[in-house]
Amino acid sequence: MRHAKLLRAIALYLITISMALTPLAQGAQSRPASQGPARRGAVGASQTEAPIRLVVGIVIDQFRYDYLMRFEDQFVEGGFKRFLQSGANFTDNNYLHTPTYTAPGHATFMSGTTPALNGIIGNEWYDRESGREVTSVSDGKVKQLGGRDGATGASPHRLLGSTLGDQLKLTTQGRARVVGISLKDRSAILPVGKRPDGAYWFDGNTGNFVSSTWYFPELPAWVKNFNRDQHSDRYFERVWERLLPAAAYARSAGDDNDYEGKDHLFPHSLRGKDEKPGPAFYGRFQSSPFANDHLANLARAAIENEKLGSDDIPDLLTISFSSNDLVGHAYGPHSEEVQDITLRTDRTIAELMKWIDKQIGLKHVVFALTADHGVAPVPEQVKALGYGGRVSATAVSGAIEKALDGAYGDEKWILSTGNGNVYFNLALLKQKNISVAEAEALAAAAVIKVPGIAACFTRSQIVSGQTPATRLAESVVHGFHPERNGNLVIVTEPFYLVGGSSGTSHGTPYSYDTHVPLLLLGPGIRPGWYGQASSPADIAPTLATLLRLNPPSNRTGRVLVEALRGR
Ligand SMILES: [Zn+2]
Repeated sequence: MRHAKLLRAIALYLITISMALTPLAQGAQSRPASQGPARRGAVGASQTEAPIRLVVGIVIDQFRYDYLMRFEDQFVEGGFKRFLQSGANFTDNNYLHTPTYTAPGHATFMSGTTPALNGIIGNEWYDRESGREVTSVSDGKVKQLGGRDGATGASPHRLLGSTLGDQLKLTTQGRARVVGISLKDRSAILPVGKRPDGAYWFDGNTGNFVSSTWYFPELPAWVKNFNRDQHSDRYFERVWERLLPAAAYARSAGDDNDYEGKDHLFPHSLRGKDEKPGPAFYGRFQSSPFANDHLANLARAAIENEKLGSDDIPDLLTISFSSNDLVGHAYGPHSEEVQDITLRTDRTIAELMKWIDKQIGLKHVVFALTADHGVAPVPEQVKALGYGGRVSATAVSGAIEKALDGAYGDEKWILSTGNGNVYFNLALLKQKNISVAEAEALAAAAVIKVPGIAACFTRSQIVSGQTPATRLAESVVHGFHPERNGNLVIVTEPFYLVGGSSGTSHGTPYSYDTHVPLLLLGPGIRPGWYGQASSPADIAPTLATLLRLNPPSNRTGRVLVEALRGR
């Protein structure tokens, strides 16, 4: 196993090297005209350019590349358009791993590698050691700070290897400042690695931004002040209406369609029928574009109070906008709601960039923007076109149980399912002297007969390097960690979802889930549209080159040399 892993690492290393040696700017369709040919050789921040004082890493949760194209004409100046016109736009940027979920995407973002090496294989998974479900960041050893008394904390303890922030800390002897923020704990915590100055996320019980004792014994005063002065309760009376006149949404599916859940019509009241703010309101708030604005305000407070970008030691701020994901799940990628929150996110980012320009000066700031995954169309919507649909979760587990019961007798063979994984009861198999590989093969053969299931890979197959040479299998291998994944990994056919009754989701190796933006902007970045294949794992090594740092320890992504200015 270790041998196979080593060979894979060497192969990836050689591929990375050979890619790094391809001519600069090959195939780049510059828009506007690029700034003349870069000299070959060293790339990275030029010493003649203004020093980089701040890197802002932006993730938009559940944001497909095609949103940038579909709505480009409705963007304002200074937001996404600024990236498309003055930055580097990688037009064929795809995740290389399955499952395409939030935690793996955010871990990839700044570790520069896939879950196979960063260990974040899902949002949650079955932990064999403790015999229970864990989340990517749950940590019983730390306490939450700023929320309800006694709430369990969260930390990056399951993240393997270093991130860009860790490398910054190492190289500057801790002087660089590193901060991560989001509505979701995993999206605040995973991008900034092990020892940032802080990670902050939204608590749906109290409406506060919270953190954990992993980072410090007490919540910093500026975060307490933010919770006091700018609490989310201020949004209680807000109503989410369309930003533009209704006619501007003609390209979407129409507000009153059959594919969205209940309460799907504009306007969306945040208070609903509630008398005062509480958890139900905090839920609706997070599912509205106003929570993105609230997070942008926290970004401003973080920059001011943590003094980010205030000197020539580069700092790192990661911001993950979560509301787009909640809206996308409920209404689907072709809804007016998704169009509207996309337009509003553009304006939120434009305002934030304007503020950062005033505060720090954009000539000192590098921006990297991506998404943690895309999303499938609502199954019922594509079914009407003749493909896709929903697979019942019990049909999948039923097929496996039936196969194992038939071969080995009636027992509780499965400990856990979820995250596209099936965990066998290994102790029971051992006790009955049953070969794990045989049981896996038997179950896999049964599960692929379920309509809507495309493939099922077994643990034995993956760890012995015997998966077929297909893109599907490769994607599963990139998402597989031998100590954390189950005995089976199941992949649906395109446009099929397992479970649910309305709305949509993501998680597959198909383009609607993998194809996301990769936008870079700032000193050292060559503007242009680049058609070369890239992945979000390329962001961290590229930024490391720009910052003259050693890349994150486990990185497998390549340096996007075509988008870096030569010296
Ligand atoms: Zn997500």
